[in-house]
Amino acid sequence: VELPIHDAVLARAAEFGDIPALIDGTDGTTLSYERVDRFHRRVAAALAEAGVRKGDVLALHSPNTIAFPTAFYAATRAGATVTTVHPLATAQEFAKQLTDCAARWIITVSPLLDIARRAAELAGGVHEIFVCDSATGHRSLIDMLASAAPEPQVAIDPAQDVAALPYSSGTTGTPKGVMLTHRQIATNLAQLNPAIPAGPGDRVLAVLPFFHIYGLTALMNAPLRQGATVVVLPRFDLEQFLAAIQNHRITALYVAPPIVLALAKHPAVAQYDLSSLKYVISAAAPLDARLASACSERLGLPPVGQAYGMTELSPGTHVVPLDAMSDAPPGTVGKLIAGTEMRIVSLDDPGKDLPAGESGEILIRGPQVMKGYLGRPDATAAMIDTDGWLHTGDVGHVDTDGWLFVVDRVKELIKYKGFQVAPAELEALLLTHPAIADAAVIGVYDDDGNEIPHAYVVRRPDRTDLSEAEIMMYVAERVAPYKRIRHVTFIDGVPRAASGKILRRQLRERT
Ligand code: ATP
Ligand code: MG
Repeated sequence: VELPIHDAVLARAAEFGDIPALIDGTDGTTLSYERVDRFHRRVAAALAEAGVRKGDVLALHSPNTIAFPTAFYAATRAGATVTTVHPLATAQEFAKQLTDCAARWIITVSPLLDIARRAAELAGGVHEIFVCDSATGHRSLIDMLASAAPEPQVAIDPAQDVAALPYSSGTTGTPKGVMLTHRQIATNLAQLNPAIPAGPGDRVLAVLPFFHIYGLTALMNAPLRQGATVVVLPRFDLEQFLAAIQNHRITALYVAPPIVLALAKHPAVAQYDLSSLKYVISAAAPLDARLASACSERLGLPPVGQAYGMTELSPGTHVVPLDAMSDAPPGTVGKLIAGTEMRIVSLDDPGKDLPAGESGEILIRGPQVMKGYLGRPDATAAMIDTDGWLHTGDVGHVDTDGWLFVVDRVKELIKYKGFQVAPAELEALLLTHPAIADAAVIGVYDDDGNEIPHAYVVRRPDRTDLSEAEIMMYVAERVAPYKRIRHVTFIDGVPRAASGKILRRQLRERT
């Protein structure tokens, strides 16, 4: 039988019983599997009693906490569609999302209550705001646990009903609401989990945000489905992160490239005992093979494995299987998961399939392809063609063994005099310079109308003597002439989304 997402994830909760499902990494508070299962049913009952009905959109507005999964699964059990909200969103941004998806309910946390209230006022149409922890004047999940209401029996059609409505990261434009059905999310978990099994005894560290599809999948649904323990941190702070790995004996890390960079380069790493770690997986943005090996060598681990996906793909299609991490070619994002098809097509002639070794746009077809963008039929049609192929907008190639390599996004490629330059490649090269702490590259137009690579560079605090000329020379010595950096601007930090992606849009607005 096909199960809705809460039942698919918590199918074995009774069996896992007293095993800790979630541990608060700041104060040690623990929730067992038995409690997550019981609590989310109680809260679902209370939500239904409060008026939550099938198909209502409920906004979950919270940093990572141990209550987050309970709130999420309670809402879907009550029949709601959960739209997750960036905990740092302003009231205006939050209101925009509430309006876009006509949300009727909000679950927030007391430190964010004022923002949630203002967003609800601005948007209108919100019936009630609930709070995870205790707060005056609002019903809390803690009160709801005492609810005597009967557990709601909502008939969910996993193939049609939308369980989650995450918004894409907004790297290339306005974030879009992505409709993911119960079936799409549950199927993708079943596709991904065998490649990276994590069961009782395994401990993952949830430092990437649950509100983004990567954290939601890798750090909430996947470990809870398999009986692992999730240690939760509310935000990324390097020292707190390292201390949590040491103190909670974390076995697996799911991170994004900026964290791989910190693990490879930051002096603080040497001060912690990270020997419990068994592997590290990176996704969400291009990771350079040299950086990956610098990280794994420093930690004494197998090579950092990668995964690839996007919100519109529920989210995964490729992963380096755990048992292949040592043998996979450096830089690969992994192999195609079961039950999914891929094509690599020419950028100039989209009907033409390319052989191994040649780069083109990655197309995906499979059960994890989104139902569509909410309220944007044109954008949906532009993304998924009539044969069901989703056009990822990413450029990549496979080798003869089927390992996928992602080059960059089609839109980010810099077209220099007929050549194509991938910013990710230049960024990776810049990071190999010992005096460079971080870097981003975008295409800008020179006076003659040519698009040229422009680097934004963060120097190490002790190396502010590094000059523009030295940087351009360093790159020029290592790449073909058309890839040379033509301009350098020094900045204090590279703007990034919560998921670790470089916000090139923001850099573009500065030039
Ligand atoms: P938006 O679609 O709103 O512009 P976004 O594409 O950044 O934002 P996400 O769905 O969070 O939103 O990210 C998916 C994208 O992340 C992919 O299309 C790809 O460009 C990038 N990505 C994911 N994993 C990897 C990886 N392992 N290597 C390189 N890029 C990756
Ligand atoms: Mg995208």
